[in-house]
Amino acid sequence: MNNIYNLTIEDLENYFLSIGEKKFKALQLYSWLYEKKVNSFDLMSDVKKTVIERLKTDFSIEHLKLVKVERDTEVNKYLFELYDGSFVESVLMRHDYGTSICVSSQVGCNMGCSFCESGRLKKVRDLALAELVGQVICVSKYEQVRIDSIVVMGIGEPFDNFENIKRFIKVVTDPKMINIGQRHLTISTCGLVPKIYEFADLETGVNLAISLHAPNNEIRDKIMKVNHGFKIEKVMEALDYYIKKTNRRVTIEYIMLEGINDSDKCAHELVNLVKGKLMYVNLIPYNETTHFELKRSNDFKIKSFYDILKSNDINVTIRKEMGGNLSAACGQLRANSERL
Ligand code: SAH
Repeated sequence: MNNIYNLTIEDLENYFLSIGEKKFKALQLYSWLYEKKVNSFDLMSDVKKTVIERLKTDFSIEHLKLVKVERDTEVNKYLFELYDGSFVESVLMRHDYGTSICVSSQVGCNMGCSFCESGRLKKVRDLALAELVGQVICVSKYEQVRIDSIVVMGIGEPFDNFENIKRFIKVVTDPKMINIGQRHLTISTCGLVPKIYEFADLETGVNLAISLHAPNNEIRDKIMKVNHGFKIEKVMEALDYYIKKTNRRVTIEYIMLEGINDSDKCAHELVNLVKGKLMYVNLIPYNETTHFELKRSNDFKIKSFYDILKSNDINVTIRKEMGGNLSAACGQLRANSERL
């Protein structure tokens, strides 16, 4: 049965019209679903009995099943089991400036990046809207916290689940629903070029991050399969279009991998790619996993890479590491749970 959390505001209003109710009556449901986060229609005490009965025949309202929580001081990880026995994970991070959640967009991933745990497990399916939204609802309810920002950087490639991500953006940013400002939502892609154009044209105000991870095609071809289809020049062209269209700053994510992409030469090449553009570079110390030989660049290397960018007037930060004690690398918790 269709889960009610699969509906956007328009869908719910149309549903109300279809059952002979006034459109604005849909409003009553929002606070039950997104504020009080109830998991039973019977708890919706101010909704007409006949409507409740209709809702019960047409929709389920179950929340995701939380099967495991790992805790650290600033980071918690949550493992969810979905209705078909698949697992996905979310991460809650407490920063000085608020609480953010990292959500998964697919079960597994087909992008096949050579450093990423998520990609070792091929895509099983896309997450439905209710499963995307469900991660936010469940974690927020379980921890009794308000979520201030959301990053779609968990398992999966969000632009490979574009239709549901578009609906997710609507639900997340709608003041009547989850109500998180556009600027507090970030979608991260490995660089599916046609979707970057489409995303730009949507003009949602939502942030875009790109997993670049290499300053030239030779290196990127080796570590990211997606580069065989979409070369760096094409990605950069698409980003130029995005920036022109939205006037929003793009985040360039760059994992630091020892001996692969961390040389001074790489840093200078990266400078040439981003210089003068509305972009900022986030250097990410690689989270080593047992399944890959890849090593994290040492702190000295990361610092000198950073210094080269900085001295060339590039906006750059080194990502603060969180959750190192947990199975924190992207997709690790799920992989460990399934013993894959
Ligand atoms: N498919 C999307 C979002 C999911 S991956 C994308 O590629 O952007 C989220 C980010 O985590 C990406 O930048 C990815 O490259 C990075 N990542 C994956 N494995 C990692 C690891 N072991 N250590 C550090 N970052 C990792």
